[in-house]
Amino acid sequence: MLIQIDKLQQQIERFKKNESSSEDQKLVTLFEHALLAAQEGNYPVAAAIFDSNDQLQSVSTNRYFFPKPLSGAHAETNALDDFENQEKGDVSECSMIVSLEPCLMCTSRIVLSGIRKVGYLLPDPAGGGIDTMKSAPDDFRLLAQRIEFYQIKASQQALEIARALYELGEQIWKKHYSL
Ligand SMILES: [Zn+2]
Repeated sequence: MLIQIDKLQQQIERFKKNESSSEDQKLVTLFEHALLAAQEGNYPVAAAIFDSNDQLQSVSTNRYFFPKPLSGAHAETNALDDFENQEKGDVSECSMIVSLEPCLMCTSRIVLSGIRKVGYLLPDPAGGGIDTMKSAPDDFRLLAQRIEFYQIKASQQALEIARALYELGEQIWKKHYSL
C-alpha cells in the first residue's frame, strides 16, 4: 500500500506541473487532500465547497477510520459540517466538488444541506448514491431534483489519479471490514 501511496504522490506532482486551468487547480486541492487521507489510513476521498465567486470555503477528507472510528465522517459530510459550523454563508449559492461520486449517506446529506451544484470526478457504480435519489422517498426526491449533479470533465491524467485513489480506497475499506 505504501508503494501505491508513493506512486500516487508522484502522479499528483506531475499533474500539478501540467495544470493549466482554475478547474485543474481545484482538482489539485482535492488530490492533495485525498492523498493526506490515504497517508492517515483513511479512505482517500476529498470534497471542497466553493462560493459563487469560486472562492474555496471548505475542504475536507474522509476521516472514517483514524484517528478514531467515526462512521459519519465522510469527506462530503465533513466539508458540509465545517461550512455550517463556521457559518460560511448561504450554502444554496455554493457548489461542491468531490473526487468520487458521493455514497448513499452523503447524497442524502447533500440533498438535505440545500447546496445546489455537486460535481464528482469518478462515478462509483459499487457505492455511489446519486441514482438512488430517483426512487427515494418523496421528500428526498423532490429536494434532490433541485440539485445539479454532474460528472466533472477532466483530463485522462486526472481520471487516472481518481481511479488510483479509488483502488487504494477499496483496499483500505475491504481490509477494515474484513471483506
Ligand atoms: Zn459518503
